[in-house]
Amino acid sequence: HDHAARFREQTPKSRKFHDRAASVTPLGVESNVRAFDPYPFYTESADGSYITDIDGNEYLDFLLALGPIILGHNHPEVTSAVQEMAETCDITATPTRTAVQFMEKVKEMTPSIERVRMANSGTEATMHAIRVARSYTGKSMIAKPEGGYAGAHDYALQSVWASEEALGPAEEPNAVPYGTGIPEQVSETVAPIPFNDKENTEKILRKHADDMAAVIIEPIMFSCGCLKPRDGYHEFLRDLTEELGIVLIWDEVMTGFRLGPQSAQGRLGVTPDMTTFAKAAGGGYQVAGFGGRREIMEEIVPPGKGEGEKWNSSAFHGGTYNGHPLAAAAGLATLEVLDSGDVYDHIDRLGDRLFNGLQDAADDVGIDVNVQHIGSMGQVYMTDADIHRYRDTWQANEEQFADWWLEAAADNVLFGNPMQGERFFTTYTHTDEQVDHAIEVAEDAFRAVNH
Ligand code: PLP
Repeated sequence: HDHAARFREQTPKSRKFHDRAASVTPLGVESNVRAFDPYPFYTESADGSYITDIDGNEYLDFLLALGPIILGHNHPEVTSAVQEMAETCDITATPTRTAVQFMEKVKEMTPSIERVRMANSGTEATMHAIRVARSYTGKSMIAKPEGGYAGAHDYALQSVWASEEALGPAEEPNAVPYGTGIPEQVSETVAPIPFNDKENTEKILRKHADDMAAVIIEPIMFSCGCLKPRDGYHEFLRDLTEELGIVLIWDEVMTGFRLGPQSAQGRLGVTPDMTTFAKAAGGGYQVAGFGGRREIMEEIVPPGKGEGEKWNSSAFHGGTYNGHPLAAAAGLATLEVLDSGDVYDHIDRLGDRLFNGLQDAADDVGIDVNVQHIGSMGQVYMTDADIHRYRDTWQANEEQFADWWLEAAADNVLFGNPMQGERFFTTYTHTDEQVDHAIEVAEDAFRAVNH
């Protein structure tokens, strides 16, 4: 069965355009995770719950731009805030009221944030948060869960998408760079920890405590599907990092403002020292940031402008586009919609309906599938194995997932990206009918790949 055949038939213009794209940019895409077999479709437009490609196919969207689209595409309040700002102010490199209002809203909504700075991507947010934590503690190492993605900079691209051989022992995984071009010395500053394994996490953190500046971790590991914390793992990490003088950074780039008005930290009831956010905070625009306890964030003092020992000994954070008026306007409009009304009730209810419905559909077909989700976010693992540690995800059948995804895409439903390590979402414009239709399509696709 050629699972790509129907997709190819429906996308002749994209197939052709892919050749043109590949002659200007590697793999024909702007970001590695957009490349897939046989080729990506190229997008014409997006509206509400749908994306239209250049062949005119309309896809029911659960990819949702990998997370930012929480209110549906082109939510009217976000769009008009952006349009109004575009006519008022482009960019000035002088601070604006709108950016300050956005940051006030972030601070008001997020339990851990007393001070905050804006950035343009999750990658920038985690990079700067790590620097500030290193500055605050005067230590150089960071710990991160093996398998976790925390952005595309050198310190984050460690022990993610690595082979079993490269990662080595589950009790104390090796730090290994993903891909080439990353100096090997960077790995010496990173200690991977096994998520949900309290005993070995504790051993690793105690061993390196004198050098360890920060633990940077997702509250729920959506960067490898959907790994939920178990047995009080985060409460344990909160206590241990406090005891050892390690800054606890929650990477809420994926979960921030999506799992509730107070993000995952409100939902799980654990308060980290620092938090990074992006994606849903901007409702589709380039909004990101990081924040935390005041005394930690005040490591950021422009050199020569601090007092006492801070004089010329502080962490740098800057960027031409930080707090861009368009981003600030989009972020403020998004958070105002999110913080009032029924968005979370709606997306969480539809999340339960979708992900529970997918598990039921798989069970009816008799295919080995484990669907994991929290609220509006989840993933379908092609295995009946229990999934709670990163290495459990290796049980899932990557190829079968890609085939299932393509079958559904050929029926115009996008279940995220065609990779087992991704996840997908519900959004405010989704309806019960759309979700039920998606489950029917998924069931047919499960049947097509079950052998
Ligand atoms: N951190 C997490 C948990 C992420 O999922 C991502 C992106 O998917 C990032 C950081 C990086 O964010 P960005 O792609 O905006 O650089």
